[in-house]
Amino acid sequence: MLLTTGRLSKALQLTLALIKPDAVAHPLMMEGLHQSILDNNFVIVRCKDLLWGRQDCERFYAEHSERFFYRRLVEFMSSGPLRAYILGREDAVGHWRELMGPTKVFRARYTSPASLRARFGLTDTRNTAHGSDSAESAQREMAFFFPDFDAEEWMRSEEPAFRSGRARYDPRRRVHALCARS
Ligand code: ATP
Ligand code: MG
Repeated sequence: MLLTTGRLSKALQLTLALIKPDAVAHPLMMEGLHQSILDNNFVIVRCKDLLWGRQDCERFYAEHSERFFYRRLVEFMSSGPLRAYILGREDAVGHWRELMGPTKVFRARYTSPASLRARFGLTDTRNTAHGSDSAESAQREMAFFFPDFDAEEWMRSEEPAFRSGRARYDPRRRVHALCARS
C-alpha cells in the first residue's frame, strides 16, 4: 500500500504514541488500533513492544507526581506490555491526540464516540493510548523510548522521501519503509 499522504508541501511532524497495557492485553483491539493508525494516514516510522519497569513509569510521568492518580497510573503502566510508536504526519501531535480523544473515557464516549479512547478505553486511568502533547514533548518522549532514533537525522535524510509518497507499508515489520524510486 503506498502512502496516501504523498506529495504534501508541509513537512511531516513526528510524535510518540503509546498503546497502554489495557489494550495490549487484547490482540483484536491491537489490530483495530493499528489499523486506525494506518486508516488515518500516519506513517509508522518505528514500532516496538516493551515492558516498563516502575522506575521508567515514575520518570516518564514525573510531571504528574503530585496528582491523586499518580500511583495508580504508575502501577497500571508497569502492569503489562506496552506498544510504542513513532508516527509521522502533517501536524502529527495534534492529529494523534484528536484520534485518541479526551483523557476521560466517559467524556470521550460522549463528545468523540469515534475516538480510540471512546471505542476501547475502560476507565480514566486505563484509557488505551498516550500521545505527546507538544513537539517538544515528542522529542523528549521519542528519545525516551527509542534512544537509537535520531529524529533530526530522520527529518534531514528520510522525511522528504516519505512526504513525497515514496513510503510503503511493510505488514511483516508493521512499519513504513522507503521504496525504490520507479
Ligand atoms: P496521555 O499523557 O496519556 O497522552 P493526556 O495527555 O490526555 O494523556 P494527562 O493529563 O497527561 O492526560 O494524564 C496522563 C494520564 O494519567 C492519562 O492518560 C490517564 O491515564 C491518567 N489520568 C489523567 N487524569 C486522570 C484522572 N482524573 N483519573 C485517573 N487517571 C487519570
Ligand atoms: Mg499527557
